[in-house]
Amino acid sequence: MVNNLKNIPSVDELLTEQSLQEQLSHYNRDFVVDVLREAVEAMRTRLKAVDTEVTRAHIIKWVCQDVEQRVQVLTRGTLKRVINGTGVILHTNLGRAPLSQTALNYLHQMGSFYNNLELDLEKGERGSRYVHVEELLCRLTKAEAALVVNNNAAAVLLGLNTLAQGKEVIVSRGQLVEIGGAFRIPEVMKLSGALLKEVGTTNKTYLRDYAEAIGEDTGLLFAAHTSNYKIEGFTAEVALSDLVKLGRDANLPVMKDLGSGILFIPPSCGLGDEPTVQQCVEAGADVITFSGDKLLGGPQAGIIVGRKEYIEAMKKNQLTRALRVDKLTIAALEATLIEYLAGFPEKNLPVIHMLSLSSDELRQRAERLVEILNAAIGKQALLQSISMVEVEDMVGGGAYPTYRLPGYGVEIKFQDLKLETVAACLRRQDPAVLTRRQEDRMLISVRTLLEGDAAILAKKIYQVLHDLEAKAQKGVQH
Ligand SMILES: *Cc1c(COP(=O)(O)O)cnc(C)c1O
Repeated sequence: MVNNLKNIPSVDELLTEQSLQEQLSHYNRDFVVDVLREAVEAMRTRLKAVDTEVTRAHIIKWVCQDVEQRVQVLTRGTLKRVINGTGVILHTNLGRAPLSQTALNYLHQMGSFYNNLELDLEKGERGSRYVHVEELLCRLTKAEAALVVNNNAAAVLLGLNTLAQGKEVIVSRGQLVEIGGAFRIPEVMKLSGALLKEVGTTNKTYLRDYAEAIGEDTGLLFAAHTSNYKIEGFTAEVALSDLVKLGRDANLPVMKDLGSGILFIPPSCGLGDEPTVQQCVEAGADVITFSGDKLLGGPQAGIIVGRKEYIEAMKKNQLTRALRVDKLTIAALEATLIEYLAGFPEKNLPVIHMLSLSSDELRQRAERLVEILNAAIGKQALLQSISMVEVEDMVGGGAYPTYRLPGYGVEIKFQDLKLETVAACLRRQDPAVLTRRQEDRMLISVRTLLEGDAAILAKKIYQVLHDLEAKAQKGVQH
Protein backbone atom coordinates (compact mmCIF):
# COMPACT_ATOMS: atom_id res chain seq x y z
CA MET A 1 0.00 0.00 0.00
CA VAL A 2 1.55 3.32 -1.05
CA ASN A 3 0.98 6.30 1.16
CA ASN A 4 0.74 9.27 -1.17
CA LEU A 5 -0.78 11.50 1.50
CA LYS A 6 2.67 12.22 2.92
CA ASN A 7 3.59 13.77 -0.43
CA ILE A 8 1.04 16.57 -0.04
CA PRO A 9 2.86 19.77 0.91
CA SER A 10 1.51 21.94 3.72
CA VAL A 11 -0.87 24.81 2.91
CA ASP A 12 1.90 27.32 3.67
CA GLU A 13 4.29 25.60 1.33
CA LEU A 14 1.66 25.42 -1.41
CA LEU A 15 0.99 29.15 -1.03
CA THR A 16 4.53 29.91 -2.18
CA GLU A 17 3.78 28.36 -5.59
CA GLN A 18 3.80 30.86 -8.42
CA SER A 19 0.25 30.06 -9.52
CA LEU A 20 -1.13 30.55 -6.02
CA GLN A 21 0.88 33.73 -5.54
CA GLU A 22 -0.90 34.99 -8.62
CA GLN A 23 -4.29 34.12 -7.15
CA LEU A 24 -3.29 35.98 -3.98
CA SER A 25 -2.49 39.09 -5.98
CA HIS A 26 -6.00 39.10 -7.45
CA TYR A 27 -8.21 37.80 -4.66
CA ASN A 28 -8.79 38.08 -0.95
CA ARG A 29 -6.26 35.99 1.01
CA ASP A 30 -8.76 34.22 3.28
CA PHE A 31 -10.78 33.27 0.24
CA VAL A 32 -7.79 31.81 -1.61
CA VAL A 33 -6.65 29.92 1.48
CA ASP A 34 -10.16 28.48 2.01
CA VAL A 35 -10.33 27.34 -1.59
CA LEU A 36 -6.83 25.87 -1.32
CA ARG A 37 -7.87 23.86 1.74
CA GLU A 38 -10.86 22.52 -0.19
CA ALA A 39 -8.62 21.58 -3.10
CA VAL A 40 -6.17 19.81 -0.76
CA GLU A 41 -9.05 17.92 0.83
CA ALA A 42 -10.27 16.85 -2.61
CA MET A 43 -6.69 15.79 -3.41
CA ARG A 44 -6.57 13.63 -0.28
CA THR A 45 -9.75 11.83 -1.28
CA ARG A 46 -8.36 11.29 -4.76
CA LEU A 47 -5.04 9.97 -3.51
CA LYS A 48 -6.67 7.48 -1.16
CA ALA A 49 -8.21 5.78 -4.17
CA VAL A 50 -4.85 5.48 -5.98
CA ASP A 51 -2.36 2.71 -5.26
CA THR A 52 0.54 3.82 -7.42
CA GLU A 53 3.10 6.38 -6.36
CA VAL A 54 2.14 10.00 -7.17
CA THR A 55 4.99 12.48 -7.04
CA ARG A 56 5.00 15.64 -5.00
CA ALA A 57 5.41 17.68 -8.20
CA HIS A 58 2.28 16.12 -9.68
CA ILE A 59 0.29 16.78 -6.56
CA ILE A 60 1.33 20.43 -6.53
CA LYS A 61 0.39 20.83 -10.18
CA TRP A 62 -3.05 19.26 -9.69
CA VAL A 63 -3.85 21.22 -6.56
CA CYS A 64 -2.85 24.50 -8.20
CA GLN A 65 -4.98 23.76 -11.26
CA ASP A 66 -7.89 22.80 -9.06
CA VAL A 67 -7.62 26.04 -7.09
CA GLU A 68 -7.55 28.05 -10.32
CA GLN A 69 -10.67 26.33 -11.56
CA ARG A 70 -12.54 26.69 -8.29
CA VAL A 71 -11.66 30.38 -8.01
CA GLN A 72 -12.73 30.96 -11.59
CA VAL A 73 -16.13 29.35 -11.03
CA LEU A 74 -16.76 31.11 -7.71
CA THR A 75 -15.78 34.57 -8.91
CA ARG A 76 -17.89 34.32 -12.03
CA GLY A 77 -21.09 34.39 -9.99
CA THR A 78 -24.03 32.12 -10.62
CA LEU A 79 -26.20 34.47 -12.65
CA LYS A 80 -25.42 33.95 -16.33
CA ARG A 81 -26.64 35.44 -19.57
CA VAL A 82 -28.98 33.07 -21.41
CA ILE A 83 -29.86 33.06 -25.08
CA ASN A 84 -33.55 32.25 -25.30
CA GLY A 85 -34.31 30.16 -28.35
CA THR A 86 -37.51 28.74 -26.89
CA GLY A 87 -39.92 31.24 -28.40
CA VAL A 88 -41.47 31.78 -24.96
CA ILE A 89 -41.37 35.55 -24.49
CA LEU A 90 -41.80 35.65 -20.72
CA HIS A 91 -40.03 32.89 -18.87
CA THR A 92 -40.01 33.28 -15.10
CA ASN A 93 -37.02 30.90 -15.06
CA LEU A 94 -35.22 33.26 -17.44
CA GLY A 95 -35.86 36.46 -15.52
CA ARG A 96 -39.01 37.46 -17.43
CA ALA A 97 -38.80 40.75 -19.35
CA PRO A 98 -35.46 41.95 -20.73
CA LEU A 99 -35.26 45.71 -20.14
CA SER A 100 -35.23 48.52 -22.67
CA GLN A 101 -32.09 50.45 -23.51
CA THR A 102 -33.40 53.60 -21.85
CA ALA A 103 -34.23 51.65 -18.69
CA LEU A 104 -30.67 50.33 -18.62
CA ASN A 105 -29.16 53.79 -19.13
CA TYR A 106 -31.37 55.19 -16.40
CA LEU A 107 -30.47 52.33 -14.04
CA HIS A 108 -26.84 53.08 -14.66
CA GLN A 109 -27.32 56.77 -13.87
CA MET A 110 -29.38 56.24 -10.73
CA GLY A 111 -27.21 53.39 -9.52
CA SER A 112 -23.92 55.21 -10.06
CA PHE A 113 -24.82 58.44 -8.31
CA TYR A 114 -26.93 59.75 -5.44
CA ASN A 115 -30.53 60.58 -6.25
CA ASN A 116 -33.67 62.10 -4.76
CA LEU A 117 -35.33 58.78 -3.89
CA GLU A 118 -36.88 60.20 -0.71
CA LEU A 119 -36.13 63.87 -0.97
CA ASP A 120 -38.48 66.60 -2.14
CA LEU A 121 -36.04 68.82 -4.02
CA GLU A 122 -38.54 71.69 -4.30
CA LYS A 123 -39.15 72.00 -0.58
CA GLY A 124 -35.87 70.58 0.64
CA GLU A 125 -37.80 68.19 2.84
CA ARG A 126 -38.09 64.48 3.23
CA GLY A 127 -40.12 63.09 0.35
CA SER A 128 -41.66 59.74 -0.48
CA ARG A 129 -40.22 57.12 -2.78
CA TYR A 130 -43.75 56.34 -3.88
CA VAL A 131 -44.26 59.64 -5.70
CA HIS A 132 -41.82 58.74 -8.44
CA VAL A 133 -43.90 56.56 -10.73
CA GLU A 134 -47.32 57.47 -9.43
CA GLU A 135 -48.09 60.26 -11.85
CA LEU A 136 -46.89 58.21 -14.82
CA LEU A 137 -49.06 55.27 -13.79
CA CYS A 138 -52.08 57.51 -13.28
CA ARG A 139 -51.67 59.17 -16.66
CA LEU A 140 -51.21 55.88 -18.47
CA THR A 141 -54.04 53.99 -16.78
CA LYS A 142 -56.38 56.89 -15.90
CA ALA A 143 -56.50 55.63 -12.31
CA GLU A 144 -56.73 58.11 -9.41
CA ALA A 145 -53.72 56.79 -7.54
CA ALA A 146 -50.92 54.22 -7.75
CA LEU A 147 -48.41 52.41 -5.57
CA VAL A 148 -45.52 50.10 -6.43
CA VAL A 149 -44.31 47.23 -4.25
CA ASN A 150 -41.91 44.31 -4.61
CA ASN A 151 -43.98 42.09 -6.93
CA ASN A 152 -47.57 41.29 -7.78
CA ALA A 153 -47.77 38.66 -5.04
CA ALA A 154 -46.89 41.42 -2.58
CA ALA A 155 -49.44 43.73 -4.20
CA VAL A 156 -52.22 41.17 -3.76
CA LEU A 157 -51.15 40.50 -0.17
CA LEU A 158 -51.08 44.21 0.64
CA GLY A 159 -54.44 44.84 -1.02
CA LEU A 160 -56.16 42.01 0.81
CA ASN A 161 -54.58 42.91 4.13
CA THR A 162 -55.47 46.58 3.86
CA LEU A 163 -59.02 46.17 2.57
CA ALA A 164 -60.17 42.96 4.16
CA GLN A 165 -58.18 41.89 7.23
CA GLY A 166 -60.55 39.95 9.46
CA LYS A 167 -63.29 40.19 6.86
CA GLU A 168 -64.67 37.91 4.19
CA VAL A 169 -63.46 38.16 0.63
CA ILE A 170 -65.76 36.72 -2.00
CA VAL A 171 -64.00 34.89 -4.84
CA SER A 172 -65.22 32.65 -7.64
CA ARG A 173 -64.17 28.99 -7.33
CA GLY A 174 -63.01 29.19 -10.94
CA GLN A 175 -60.39 31.79 -9.99
CA LEU A 176 -58.62 30.18 -7.03
CA VAL A 177 -55.43 30.04 -9.05
CA GLU A 178 -51.95 28.88 -8.32
CA ILE A 179 -49.29 30.77 -10.26
CA GLY A 180 -45.87 29.18 -10.80
CA GLY A 181 -43.48 29.49 -7.87
CA ALA A 182 -46.20 28.72 -5.32
CA PHE A 183 -48.41 31.80 -5.42
CA ARG A 184 -51.81 30.45 -4.43
CA ILE A 185 -54.75 32.78 -3.95
CA PRO A 186 -56.14 30.81 -0.95
CA GLU A 187 -52.73 30.81 0.79
CA VAL A 188 -52.09 34.50 0.16
CA MET A 189 -55.58 35.21 1.44
CA LYS A 190 -54.84 33.33 4.66
CA LEU A 191 -51.54 35.16 5.11
CA SER A 192 -53.26 38.51 4.64
CA GLY A 193 -55.68 37.81 7.47
CA ALA A 194 -58.67 37.89 5.14
CA LEU A 195 -61.20 35.07 5.09
CA LEU A 196 -61.82 33.34 1.81
CA LYS A 197 -65.43 32.89 0.82
CA GLU A 198 -65.68 30.77 -2.32
CA VAL A 199 -68.72 31.05 -4.54
CA GLY A 200 -69.97 29.35 -7.70
CA THR A 201 -68.41 26.24 -9.18
CA THR A 202 -65.17 25.55 -11.01
CA ASN A 203 -66.67 26.18 -14.43
CA LYS A 204 -69.58 28.51 -13.73
CA THR A 205 -70.05 31.46 -11.44
CA TYR A 206 -72.91 33.92 -11.80
CA LEU A 207 -73.43 37.40 -10.40
CA ARG A 208 -76.19 36.05 -8.14
CA ASP A 209 -73.61 33.72 -6.51
CA TYR A 210 -71.66 36.77 -5.35
CA ALA A 211 -74.82 38.65 -4.40
CA GLU A 212 -76.12 35.80 -2.25
CA ALA A 213 -72.79 35.46 -0.45
CA ILE A 214 -72.61 39.09 0.64
CA GLY A 215 -73.21 39.45 4.35
CA GLU A 216 -72.29 41.54 7.35
CA ASP A 217 -68.73 40.25 7.43
CA THR A 218 -67.99 40.83 3.76
CA GLY A 219 -65.12 43.25 3.16
CA LEU A 220 -64.19 42.83 -0.49
CA LEU A 221 -65.16 41.34 -3.83
CA PHE A 222 -62.12 39.83 -5.50
CA ALA A 223 -61.44 38.66 -9.04
CA ALA A 224 -58.24 37.06 -10.33
CA HIS A 225 -57.18 36.74 -13.93
CA THR A 226 -56.81 33.01 -14.51
CA SER A 227 -53.45 33.67 -16.09
CA ASN A 228 -52.04 30.24 -16.54
CA TYR A 229 -55.05 28.13 -17.40
CA LYS A 230 -58.26 28.47 -19.28
CA ILE A 231 -61.52 26.78 -18.49
CA GLU A 232 -63.16 25.98 -21.78
CA GLY A 233 -66.53 24.60 -22.75
CA PHE A 234 -69.55 25.05 -20.52
CA THR A 235 -68.41 28.10 -18.60
CA ALA A 236 -69.61 31.37 -17.15
CA GLU A 237 -67.65 34.17 -15.54
CA VAL A 238 -68.93 37.47 -14.25
CA ALA A 239 -67.76 40.54 -16.16
CA LEU A 240 -65.68 42.93 -14.11
CA SER A 241 -68.12 45.78 -14.77
CA ASP A 242 -71.00 43.70 -13.38
CA LEU A 243 -68.99 42.86 -10.29
CA VAL A 244 -68.23 46.56 -9.86
CA LYS A 245 -71.92 47.41 -10.06
CA LEU A 246 -72.70 44.82 -7.41
CA GLY A 247 -69.92 46.23 -5.23
CA ARG A 248 -71.30 49.78 -5.59
CA ASP A 249 -74.78 48.65 -4.60
CA ALA A 250 -73.46 46.79 -1.56
CA ASN A 251 -70.93 49.48 -0.69
CA LEU A 252 -68.01 47.06 -1.09
CA PRO A 253 -64.71 47.63 -2.90
CA VAL A 254 -63.77 45.40 -5.85
CA MET A 255 -60.19 44.27 -6.35
CA LYS A 256 -58.83 42.66 -9.52
CA ASP A 257 -55.58 40.69 -9.69
CA LEU A 258 -54.79 41.15 -13.35
CA GLY A 259 -51.51 39.21 -13.29
CA SER A 260 -49.82 40.36 -16.46
CA GLY A 261 -50.80 44.00 -16.77
CA ILE A 262 -50.80 45.04 -20.39
CA LEU A 263 -50.87 48.72 -21.23
CA PHE A 264 -50.53 48.34 -24.96
CA ILE A 265 -51.44 45.38 -27.15
CA PRO A 266 -49.85 45.42 -30.62
CA PRO A 267 -52.79 45.23 -33.05
CA SER A 268 -51.54 42.21 -34.98
CA CYS A 269 -50.59 39.87 -32.16
CA GLY A 270 -53.93 38.20 -31.45
CA LEU A 271 -54.15 39.18 -27.79
CA GLY A 272 -56.75 41.83 -28.59
CA ASP A 273 -59.45 40.26 -26.42
CA GLU A 274 -57.34 40.47 -23.27
CA PRO A 275 -58.28 43.27 -20.88
CA THR A 276 -55.72 46.04 -20.60
CA VAL A 277 -55.10 47.82 -17.31
CA GLN A 278 -56.90 50.87 -18.70
CA GLN A 279 -59.99 48.79 -19.46
CA CYS A 280 -60.08 47.45 -15.89
CA VAL A 281 -59.84 51.01 -14.57
CA GLU A 282 -62.60 52.06 -16.93
CA ALA A 283 -64.74 49.13 -15.79
CA GLY A 284 -64.55 50.75 -12.36
CA ALA A 285 -62.41 48.29 -10.35
CA ASP A 286 -61.37 49.98 -7.11
CA VAL A 287 -57.99 48.27 -6.91
CA ILE A 288 -56.09 46.59 -9.75
CA THR A 289 -52.78 44.78 -9.26
CA PHE A 290 -50.32 43.51 -11.88
CA SER A 291 -46.67 42.59 -12.40
CA GLY A 292 -44.04 45.00 -13.68
CA ASP A 293 -42.03 42.29 -15.43
CA LYS A 294 -44.67 40.45 -17.40
CA LEU A 295 -46.19 42.08 -20.49
CA LEU A 296 -45.52 45.55 -19.14
CA GLY A 297 -41.90 44.85 -20.05
CA GLY A 298 -40.23 46.36 -17.00
CA PRO A 299 -38.44 45.24 -13.82
CA GLN A 300 -39.88 42.95 -11.16
CA ALA A 301 -42.50 44.99 -9.33
CA GLY A 302 -46.08 44.80 -8.12
CA ILE A 303 -48.11 47.70 -9.42
CA ILE A 304 -51.30 48.75 -7.71
CA VAL A 305 -53.61 51.30 -9.29
CA GLY A 306 -57.05 52.41 -8.22
CA ARG A 307 -59.08 54.68 -5.99
CA LYS A 308 -57.15 57.17 -3.94
CA GLU A 309 -58.72 56.29 -0.58
CA TYR A 310 -57.66 52.64 -0.88
CA ILE A 311 -54.18 53.37 -2.23
CA GLU A 312 -53.64 55.92 0.57
CA ALA A 313 -54.69 53.29 3.13
CA MET A 314 -52.16 50.88 1.61
CA LYS A 315 -49.38 53.47 1.78
CA LYS A 316 -50.03 53.78 5.51
CA ASN A 317 -50.04 50.02 6.09
CA GLN A 318 -46.88 48.85 7.94
CA LEU A 319 -46.65 45.94 5.50
CA THR A 320 -45.76 48.38 2.73
CA ARG A 321 -42.45 49.10 4.45
CA ALA A 322 -41.57 45.41 4.23
CA LEU A 323 -42.64 45.16 0.61
CA ARG A 324 -41.05 48.35 -0.63
CA VAL A 325 -39.14 48.69 -3.86
CA ASP A 326 -35.60 50.01 -4.18
CA LYS A 327 -34.25 52.85 -6.31
CA LEU A 328 -33.17 50.51 -9.10
CA THR A 329 -36.67 49.12 -9.53
CA ILE A 330 -38.14 52.61 -9.50
CA ALA A 331 -35.58 53.81 -12.04
CA ALA A 332 -36.19 50.92 -14.44
CA LEU A 333 -39.95 51.16 -14.04
CA GLU A 334 -39.99 54.91 -14.59
CA ALA A 335 -38.00 54.55 -17.81
CA THR A 336 -40.24 51.70 -18.97
CA LEU A 337 -43.42 53.69 -18.35
CA ILE A 338 -41.97 56.71 -20.17
CA GLU A 339 -41.60 54.50 -23.26
CA TYR A 340 -45.39 54.16 -23.28
CA LEU A 341 -45.80 57.93 -23.08
CA ALA A 342 -43.23 58.35 -25.83
CA GLY A 343 -45.51 56.22 -27.95
CA PHE A 344 -43.27 53.54 -29.43
CA PRO A 345 -43.41 50.66 -26.97
CA GLU A 346 -43.41 48.10 -29.80
CA LYS A 347 -40.14 49.56 -30.98
CA ASN A 348 -38.38 50.23 -27.69
CA LEU A 349 -39.60 47.67 -25.17
CA PRO A 350 -38.14 44.23 -26.00
CA VAL A 351 -41.17 42.28 -24.79
CA ILE A 352 -43.70 44.36 -26.74
CA HIS A 353 -41.38 44.30 -29.73
CA MET A 354 -41.30 40.49 -29.68
CA LEU A 355 -45.07 40.43 -29.43
CA SER A 356 -45.46 42.76 -32.39
CA LEU A 357 -43.08 41.08 -34.86
CA SER A 358 -44.80 40.31 -38.16
CA SER A 359 -44.69 37.03 -39.96
CA ASP A 360 -42.51 38.56 -42.68
CA GLU A 361 -39.99 39.90 -40.20
CA LEU A 362 -39.80 36.59 -38.40
CA ARG A 363 -39.34 34.68 -41.65
CA GLN A 364 -36.54 37.01 -42.72
CA ARG A 365 -34.84 36.57 -39.38
CA ALA A 366 -35.13 32.80 -39.63
CA GLU A 367 -33.69 32.84 -43.16
CA ARG A 368 -30.80 34.92 -41.89
CA LEU A 369 -30.23 32.54 -38.98
CA VAL A 370 -30.15 29.57 -41.37
CA GLU A 371 -27.40 31.39 -43.32
CA ILE A 372 -25.42 32.17 -40.19
CA LEU A 373 -25.71 28.60 -38.94
CA ASN A 374 -24.80 27.14 -42.34
CA ALA A 375 -21.67 29.26 -42.41
CA ALA A 376 -20.72 28.28 -38.85
CA ILE A 377 -21.59 24.59 -38.65
CA GLY A 378 -22.57 23.53 -42.17
CA LYS A 379 -19.45 21.38 -42.50
CA GLN A 380 -19.60 19.66 -39.12
CA ALA A 381 -19.67 15.87 -39.36
CA LEU A 382 -22.27 15.55 -36.62
CA LEU A 383 -24.72 17.79 -38.46
CA GLN A 384 -27.42 16.33 -40.63
CA SER A 385 -29.46 19.35 -41.72
CA ILE A 386 -30.45 22.93 -41.02
CA SER A 387 -33.74 24.27 -42.29
CA MET A 388 -36.28 27.00 -41.70
CA VAL A 389 -39.58 25.95 -40.15
CA GLU A 390 -42.80 27.49 -38.94
CA VAL A 391 -43.13 27.37 -35.16
CA GLU A 392 -45.64 28.34 -32.52
CA ASP A 393 -44.41 30.80 -29.91
CA MET A 394 -45.94 31.63 -26.56
CA VAL A 395 -46.33 34.61 -24.29
CA GLY A 396 -45.38 32.53 -21.24
CA GLY A 397 -44.74 33.77 -17.71
CA GLY A 398 -47.95 32.10 -16.65
CA ALA A 399 -49.87 34.35 -18.99
CA TYR A 400 -52.30 33.54 -21.80
CA PRO A 401 -51.63 29.80 -21.92
CA THR A 402 -53.86 29.09 -24.89
CA TYR A 403 -52.49 31.72 -27.23
CA ARG A 404 -50.10 30.52 -29.87
CA LEU A 405 -48.16 33.16 -31.72
CA PRO A 406 -47.34 31.93 -35.22
CA GLY A 407 -43.62 32.35 -35.82
CA TYR A 408 -40.55 31.05 -37.56
CA GLY A 409 -37.49 29.24 -36.44
CA VAL A 410 -34.65 26.99 -37.46
CA GLU A 411 -34.72 23.24 -37.18
CA ILE A 412 -31.46 21.37 -36.73
CA LYS A 413 -31.00 17.64 -37.11
CA PHE A 414 -27.87 15.95 -35.86
CA GLN A 415 -26.10 12.80 -36.92
CA ASP A 416 -25.49 10.02 -34.38
CA LEU A 417 -26.13 12.34 -31.46
CA LYS A 418 -28.70 12.32 -28.72
CA LEU A 419 -30.52 15.63 -28.82
CA GLU A 420 -30.40 15.82 -25.04
CA THR A 421 -26.59 15.62 -25.15
CA VAL A 422 -26.37 18.66 -27.42
CA ALA A 423 -29.03 20.55 -25.45
CA ALA A 424 -27.22 19.88 -22.16
CA CYS A 425 -23.87 21.04 -23.59
CA LEU A 426 -25.52 24.21 -24.91
CA ARG A 427 -27.02 24.94 -21.49
CA ARG A 428 -23.56 24.77 -19.95
CA GLN A 429 -22.08 27.36 -22.31
CA ASP A 430 -21.57 30.97 -21.27
CA PRO A 431 -23.86 32.56 -22.38
CA ALA A 432 -26.03 29.49 -21.93
CA VAL A 433 -28.22 28.57 -24.88
CA LEU A 434 -31.78 27.31 -24.44
CA THR A 435 -33.55 25.61 -27.32
CA ARG A 436 -36.76 23.72 -27.91
CA ARG A 437 -37.11 20.14 -28.98
CA GLN A 438 -39.49 18.54 -31.37
CA GLU A 439 -39.05 14.78 -31.47
CA ASP A 440 -35.48 14.25 -32.73
CA ARG A 441 -34.98 17.81 -33.92
CA MET A 442 -33.73 20.91 -32.21
CA LEU A 443 -35.80 24.04 -32.73
CA ILE A 444 -34.63 27.58 -32.27
CA SER A 445 -37.36 30.17 -32.45
CA VAL A 446 -36.16 33.56 -33.69
CA ARG A 447 -38.82 35.64 -31.94
CA THR A 448 -37.06 35.58 -28.58
CA LEU A 449 -33.52 36.10 -29.87
CA LEU A 450 -32.13 39.49 -28.91
CA GLU A 451 -29.57 41.65 -30.66
CA GLY A 452 -26.27 39.84 -31.04
CA ASP A 453 -27.71 36.48 -29.99
CA ALA A 454 -27.65 34.85 -33.44
CA ALA A 455 -23.89 35.14 -33.89
CA ILE A 456 -23.13 33.89 -30.38
CA LEU A 457 -25.62 31.06 -30.80
CA ALA A 458 -23.87 29.90 -33.98
CA LYS A 459 -20.50 30.04 -32.26
CA LYS A 460 -21.75 28.05 -29.28
CA ILE A 461 -23.33 25.33 -31.42
CA TYR A 462 -20.09 25.11 -33.39
CA GLN A 463 -18.12 24.79 -30.15
CA VAL A 464 -20.38 22.06 -28.78
CA LEU A 465 -20.34 20.02 -32.01
CA HIS A 466 -16.59 20.44 -32.29
CA ASP A 467 -16.06 19.23 -28.71
CA LEU A 468 -18.47 16.32 -29.09
CA GLU A 469 -16.78 15.24 -32.29
CA ALA A 470 -13.33 15.42 -30.70
CA LYS A 471 -14.65 13.30 -27.85
CA ALA A 472 -16.15 10.77 -30.24
CA GLN A 473 -12.85 10.53 -32.19
CA LYS A 474 -10.95 9.96 -28.98
CA GLY A 475 -13.44 7.23 -28.07
CA VAL A 476 -12.81 5.49 -31.41
CA GLN A 477 -9.02 5.58 -30.99
CA HIS A 478 -9.11 3.85 -27.60
C1 LIG B 1 -47.98 36.27 -12.22
C2 LIG B 1 -49.19 36.42 -11.39
C3 LIG B 1 -49.08 36.68 -10.01
C4 LIG B 1 -47.75 36.78 -9.33
O1 LIG B 1 -47.08 37.93 -9.75
P1 LIG B 1 -45.52 38.15 -9.35
O2 LIG B 1 -45.20 39.46 -9.96
O3 LIG B 1 -44.79 36.99 -9.95
O4 LIG B 1 -45.44 38.15 -7.88
C5 LIG B 1 -50.23 36.83 -9.29
N1 LIG B 1 -51.46 36.71 -9.87
C6 LIG B 1 -51.60 36.46 -11.20
C7 LIG B 1 -52.98 36.33 -11.76
C8 LIG B 1 -50.47 36.31 -12.00
O5 LIG B 1 -50.61 36.06 -13.30
